[in-house]
Amino acid sequence: MQKQNQDPIFDLVKKEEERQTEMIGLIPSENHSSEAVRSVLSSCLSSKYAEGYPKRRYYEGNQVIDEIEIEAQKRLKELFKVPHVNVQPYSGSPANSAVEFALLEEGDTIMGLALSSGGHLTHGHPKVTFSGRYFNSIQYGLDENARIDFKELRRLALEHKPKLIIAGTTAYPFVLDFAKFAEIADEVGAYLLADISHITGLVIAGEHQSPVPHAHIVMSTTHKTFRGPRGAMIMVTNKGLEKDPDLADKIDKAVFPALQGGPHNENTAAIAIAAGEAARPGFIEYGKQIRKNADAMATALQQEGLKLVGDGTENHLILIDLTSFGDGFGTQVAFAMDVAGIYANRNTIPGEPCSPFYPSGIRIGTPLVTTRGMKEQEMTKIAQWIARVVDHIKGEQLPALKTTRRVFLKDFKARMIKDETLLAIRKEVKEMAKTFPLFAW
Ligand SMILES: *Cc1c(COP(=O)(O)O)cnc(C)c1O
Repeated sequence: MQKQNQDPIFDLVKKEEERQTEMIGLIPSENHSSEAVRSVLSSCLSSKYAEGYPKRRYYEGNQVIDEIEIEAQKRLKELFKVPHVNVQPYSGSPANSAVEFALLEEGDTIMGLALSSGGHLTHGHPKVTFSGRYFNSIQYGLDENARIDFKELRRLALEHKPKLIIAGTTAYPFVLDFAKFAEIADEVGAYLLADISHITGLVIAGEHQSPVPHAHIVMSTTHKTFRGPRGAMIMVTNKGLEKDPDLADKIDKAVFPALQGGPHNENTAAIAIAAGEAARPGFIEYGKQIRKNADAMATALQQEGLKLVGDGTENHLILIDLTSFGDGFGTQVAFAMDVAGIYANRNTIPGEPCSPFYPSGIRIGTPLVTTRGMKEQEMTKIAQWIARVVDHIKGEQLPALKTTRRVFLKDFKARMIKDETLLAIRKEVKEMAKTFPLFAW
């Protein structure tokens, strides 16, 4: 048998750990989880088949797995105050597909926020996704203030009579008014799914309105602000059971056997551990600090002269609008930031003038750096580094002629990876980053 330390994959894992430690991560959908959460992921639980649900399994030997799954459910029901939860979805996308499969027939109408306005692929993005191809997808968007356009949403709902309305975002710096969504869903008789993947931690910390009193179903990934393992949970609310007494059963049957086989028990255990951590006072402090850090970062970026969508943030994320540097500038900035030791992602902005592949914005968020224990003071420093990067590469504009863009970017990247200014910033970033552990809570 080959020894563990001889497999070069372990060298790569070490390399990735160094990368995460020496760099600053600003991707708002990522997080570092605790040693406790991570340790259980490599436990013996992963070798057990447990198709079915606690006390209703298709395999023997699940006495202990049952206890673990029941405890995970119990903790989440208490944490979110819901009567039913399913912890088996492999991740957020399969969880949304399960909700859609549970409630809709092929060709039924669903409504979600357009991807270009900050929605998610699984919310009915046309042509390339399951939800966009199998259902009649009507997408709503934003108003002139970059906020969800509820007037338009209501008009579309009255016209198209959707069976399901999805409220959830991936690149939207404002709070979501779930009560308003519910008013419209109730008016047209639609189910309301609140997809809180990005903001679960804020909801638990009381830093964002909870969707539980308003939505019929609440879905969340477990690896974003919830700070657990990769996975997802689907919750059915009291309001959901009032509308449809079979709702919990429909969701469970859609997850298994309709879309999945055996649950990943190691994830179930890790979700239970994360739920235990989220119920402690330290987690509330964490959620509050995510918000404080986001505000501090927004203020500092603006002081550096950068423009933000909506002039700031109401949650954990910020969209930097780079249109004043030329259309599509997000691509160059994201690459140069990465060279300078700060990784984020390029993103479209509301009314994107360029294209989704060459967007004009940068999306950043504070969940990762807050988990490392960084505070307002560090946010100011990071904002200054970002501003230095932007200032250093201004003028590096995408050619207007589309066919020459790839050649331009290839040359740009080749120059940037050995750019002295960017590498000097990278050194400063590394010095600071190294003093913060990946998980400080
Ligand atoms: C991340 C996310 C998902 C999908 O989760 P995956 O685990 O990547 O499949 C779905 N909805 C929203 C709003 C998300 O942010």
